[in-house]
Amino acid sequence: MKKDRTFYQSKFEHYRTMNMWIVITSCISSLFYVISDWYLFGQINTITVPARMAILIPFIIFMIINARVRDCRIMVPLSYLVAHGIMWCTIWACTYLPDLTFASDGFIIIMAVFIFFGFAAPAKWSIVFTGLIFADILLANTFLHYPELTMMLILGIPFYGGICLVDWAVERSYVFQYVAKRMLEESAFHDQLTGLFNRNIIESIVDEHRALKCFDGKGISILIFDIDFFKKVNDTYGHESGDMVLKEVVDVSMSVLELPNYMIRWGGEEFLVIMEGNLTKAREQAEKIRCAIEQNTGAVCPVTISAGVTGYHGGDYNASVQLADRALYLAKNNGRNRVELYMD
Ligand code: GH3
Ligand code: MG
Ligand code: MG
Repeated sequence: MKKDRTFYQSKFEHYRTMNMWIVITSCISSLFYVISDWYLFGQINTITVPARMAILIPFIIFMIINARVRDCRIMVPLSYLVAHGIMWCTIWACTYLPDLTFASDGFIIIMAVFIFFGFAAPAKWSIVFTGLIFADILLANTFLHYPELTMMLILGIPFYGGICLVDWAVERSYVFQYVAKRMLEESAFHDQLTGLFNRNIIESIVDEHRALKCFDGKGISILIFDIDFFKKVNDTYGHESGDMVLKEVVDVSMSVLELPNYMIRWGGEEFLVIMEGNLTKAREQAEKIRCAIEQNTGAVCPVTISAGVTGYHGGDYNASVQLADRALYLAKNNGRNRVELYMD
């Protein structure tokens, strides 16, 4: 499966809460390192307190942004920035410590935290962002001169390999969940025969007052169309051929629809189109659909449609659907293969 942005965004959202708690717990834990500092000093000593507390700045920035932003391209690097922030605060504190023998233990602990950051991240990013930990260490070593540097690398490099492997395995296992989730969403919102949206999609484009909230509140129009004498098609050519005609009508309609729209299979051979655009534009679109279907010779037989169009001006969308339905009824009564408007 091609791992596109939607996949990584979905993976991030799946692990988003865990990611936040890893940030919280690792930042809070790193504050407590001030106690291990005192142990090394052999007494309470406030000199490392600013270095240890400095992590609160990236932590607070992370929490503020995390409450507002869901984009993994921002949140994943930000999470790693906090994790590296813990490293930098520790390195800063180390410049005051009398004994750096335990730096390797701190290094291994922070490596463990990086495993969990990789859960919410694209695996390839976690390999790079976690690997930067060695750059942190080597840079810090130029002025700290860790007595245990070789040991840190001997223990750290295989641990890093393990982290990459775990994060990659987590990503592999998420692929299966993602595919299952996409299939469920697909069947919940789409009609199997035509591939169009089914009625359920309405729930995602209305607010609590059942008012449409799509297309940024720009002019919206509603079109309903229904195939003329479709029962005859079924009776003459059989149900399977009827299905083919349905699919053809959908393909032709979609190929001529220019305005942004939601095209929904509303009933058996009745379709609802919620489109961005005023009544005049919607009428033009309806007329184009009608003409295109009339001119299409069809693999089974030629068919025509009747359509009703109305503008939507807020409020319960159902009221406008009923008006479009009245216009459709008029189109049927006026001889079919025509478009009628309902102007309120
Ligand atoms: P009118 O011009 O008044 O619309 O006449 P009509 O014969 O098209 O009447 P109506 O719209 O009431 O007919 C709907 C028919 O559509 C009845 C039903 O058998 C058929 N139908 C509904 N869903 C499907 C489907 O999924 N496949 C097939 N092949 N036929 C369907
Ligand atoms: Mg019909
Ligand atoms: Mg019908």
